[in-house]
Amino acid sequence: MRIEISDEEREFRAEARDWLEAHVPKVHRRAYVRQHDTEWQRTLYDGGWAGINWPKEHGGRGLPPDQLLIWYEECARVHAPHWGCMATALMHAGPTLIVRGTEEQRAYHLPRILKGESVWCQGWSEPGAGSDLASLTTRGDIDGDHLVVNGSKIWTSSGHLADWQELLIRTDQNATKQKGISWVICDMHSPGIEVRAIPTMSGPFDSHFAQVFYNDVRIPLTNVVGGLNNGWDVAAATLGFERGTGFIPEQLHQVEVLEDLIKLALERHKRSGYSHLDEGDIMYRLATLRAEFAAIRALTYQSISRDRNGTPGSESSMIRLYFSETLQRLTRVAIDVLGPRMMELSDDRGWTYGYLRAFPATIAAGTSDIQRNIIGERILGLPRGPKPQ
Ligand SMILES: Cc1cc2nc3c(=O)[nH]c(=O)nc-3n(C[C@H](O)[C@H](O)[C@H](O)COP(=O)(O)OP(=O)(O)OC[C@H]3O[C@@H](n4cnc5c(N)ncnc54)[C@H](O)[C@@H]3O)c2cc1C
Repeated sequence: MRIEISDEEREFRAEARDWLEAHVPKVHRRAYVRQHDTEWQRTLYDGGWAGINWPKEHGGRGLPPDQLLIWYEECARVHAPHWGCMATALMHAGPTLIVRGTEEQRAYHLPRILKGESVWCQGWSEPGAGSDLASLTTRGDIDGDHLVVNGSKIWTSSGHLADWQELLIRTDQNATKQKGISWVICDMHSPGIEVRAIPTMSGPFDSHFAQVFYNDVRIPLTNVVGGLNNGWDVAAATLGFERGTGFIPEQLHQVEVLEDLIKLALERHKRSGYSHLDEGDIMYRLATLRAEFAAIRALTYQSISRDRNGTPGSESSMIRLYFSETLQRLTRVAIDVLGPRMMELSDDRGWTYGYLRAFPATIAAGTSDIQRNIIGERILGLPRGPKPQ
């Protein structure tokens, strides 16, 4: 891994910084409001900053990973808007179509994603299939040139806001579990789809999840990505993006959050001569977190600097695991720094909200147990754990 900074990178950073300073909204706009997220995406597109690492032929700028990282660093520095409900489209649906989609699928969907014209969600988990995803039962039966889909998906982030879905369905009832699955593009406005919001503990600021029901939903066979019954393989590529590069902006954002917390703790100490800094091991925990975020950043940079035809490998599980657990430690120490004052700070940007929102981080995109299994088996070469019953 090369760590010196070239003139070209310095110029690129200056260009990114200037543009962001001129365009980042001065007033905080809440993420996961469709209009906010899509408008910001359109602003990025108009400025030439959408999908900057996507290949030029697919509407991106074809920039290398080190420039992508510089871009993310600059976005974090000025607290640029979060991807919000554009996350699935940008983070893994678009990248999956680039590596596994047909020409027609790419030509239709990629420009719409980059322009913020279409919101995507992910329909993988089911009430009876989460960690053991291959036991999914939502089915697609071929009828002429369509699949007819029946079943239900759950924990669908932004399901109620989405136009399109990366949907995993069982299309061969007789094949072994992983073999009979297809990755299809589902139009969320199709007849037969019902979307029900699921409330969460992070409360009134969040309308994050939905359960989606499919009742004879017709999806053209041309919407299958990567070949019929080959969805498990395509899903592996999607997961690589989701667990690896997809979380970089969030990681960098949390580095800024930690620095804000350190500043806050120091200010409170200066003002009153006393703060929770004096208590227990808070200073030690803040210092450890700073070191841990530096380690995560190094791990991420090393991971994306490896050439694997643009698809991250199993080490994305290490990054995902380490990041999500560190995030929970960060939000926990924030609560300890603030003490009872945290109760006053319950808005959609506050520490309390961050604390509540960090709980699911060790579940989303595969639980910590599952990430540990992957690390054990695929990176450390340990024997496979017992198969679920
Ligand atoms: C914030 C958030 C966003 C999400 N967004 C989406 C989305 O957009 N689309 C989507 O499809 N899904 C989404 N999910 C669902 C998520 O992928 C699942 O919750 C996750 O895969 C776990 O599945 P489960 O909830 O069914 O738990 P289960 O798989 O039932 O697991 C229950 C417990 O058993 C443990 N366990 C299970 N199997 C093993 C094993 N083999 N070894 C060791 N321990 C095991 C787990 O670690 C967990 O502690 C989201 C979840 C969250 C929290």
